[in-house]
Amino acid sequence: MEDTIAAIATPFGQGAVALIRISGDGVGEILGRVFQSIPFLRPRFATLGTIVSPAGDTVDQVLLTYFPNPGSYTGQDLAEISCHGGILVTQKVLETVLAAGARLAEPGEFTQRAFLNGKMDLTQAESVMDLIGARTELALQAANQQLEGQLGDRIREIRKQLLGVLAHIEAFIDFPDEDIDPDTSEAIAARLRGIIDSERSLIATAEQGRLLREGVATVICGEPNVGKSSLLNVLLGFDRAIVSELAGTTRDTIEETINLRGIPLRLIDTAGVRESDDELERQGIDRTEQQLQRADLVLEIVDISRERGRSIGVPSGKHHLRVLNKADLGRHPSWEEEAGIETSCLRQDGVEGLADAIYRTLTSGDVPWRADLTAINTRHRACLQRSCEFAERALEAVGAGQSAEFISMDVRESLDAVGEVIGRADTEELLGEIFSSFCIGK
Ligand code: GDP
Repeated sequence: MEDTIAAIATPFGQGAVALIRISGDGVGEILGRVFQSIPFLRPRFATLGTIVSPAGDTVDQVLLTYFPNPGSYTGQDLAEISCHGGILVTQKVLETVLAAGARLAEPGEFTQRAFLNGKMDLTQAESVMDLIGARTELALQAANQQLEGQLGDRIREIRKQLLGVLAHIEAFIDFPDEDIDPDTSEAIAARLRGIIDSERSLIATAEQGRLLREGVATVICGEPNVGKSSLLNVLLGFDRAIVSELAGTTRDTIEETINLRGIPLRLIDTAGVRESDDELERQGIDRTEQQLQRADLVLEIVDISRERGRSIGVPSGKHHLRVLNKADLGRHPSWEEEAGIETSCLRQDGVEGLADAIYRTLTSGDVPWRADLTAINTRHRACLQRSCEFAERALEAVGAGQSAEFISMDVRESLDAVGEVIGRADTEELLGEIFSSFCIGK
């Protein structure tokens, strides 16, 4: 926190403008060395001036905005330099700033400082990357809600309740001769049950959170020639999502993301494998099986104009829809009884119906989508599950008439675990893990 950090905050490449950020106690001194302007530098106003090298040469003409602490993103003195967006000129401006005393920022270090200075809680800091990575409007709305602090507020409410329980119990520890009377025990138990319910309802949003962040892994499978590639193409024509290539994501299959009513659907191609000889066939089946294991949603496509073949074994626990394709050719008698979504990929019929069915399947869980866009991440879930387990243990202990010391230990553990969600028990390791996935300059 003592170093003054600097980084290019805009993506690498050529553009109209690029942004360089500097944060720390040394900002004023560094600007004194590198920035020259005729108008006086006025906080929070854009000032036109030049960045000059130590030898006095002009590096670039820029607009600079200076945010004195604490009213800045990081809570420290912060400057944002908008320079011309060439690769070389941006690099030169950064080098000049570094030569004047700043050090290159680590990924996410600006946001980490914002967190450490109390500008935001950890859920808000995390939502910054969710917002940047959002691929559909729904994912964006969820990230914005979290950035506004709605998840943090719910967590703080749970903490408040747990602190209330703790205070209630600890009053008995101070008077060791007194047992917790039945009325008080029941009041404590009721409060613990309320806390457990709140935690469980948050935990239930984790699945929605994962699907919004990562997209729904959607595998299209079926026998050769039933229309898998055709369905993929029809769906791609539906609404292709804007995909940001996140650093560090590796893909071993061809994927395309579409935006289905706000839900990002990652369509995974199994259509590439043709069954030409035994060896290839086996490889193809192996690959499809692996993809089925990893799928969130399986679209099993069949050709209803031909005699029914063997059905593909879809692992349990997956959202699974059977698509009855080639409806334009009429049904073969073996499919007469079959209920399912009829499509004709050739004529592009039935796609809206399929989209409806997919949406309904994905949103039919415990959590009504849209009504509540809270979407916790896996880290939040782990903390909440731990907190919930300790709260349940405390509840059991209350029911069993255990001593106040004993119950309070569990309540404390529960409190610590829930506090980790918003970063109350910040360990360096935890922060390192969270912020290392950020962009540089954020
Ligand atoms: P895949 O092997 O399962 O990927 O199947 P394809 O998508 O390559 O389709 C196989 C053949 O079926 C192609 O000739 C398609 O034009 C045709 N086909 C796909 N969908 C339909 C459909 O709904 N109706 C009709 N009549 N033909 C279709």
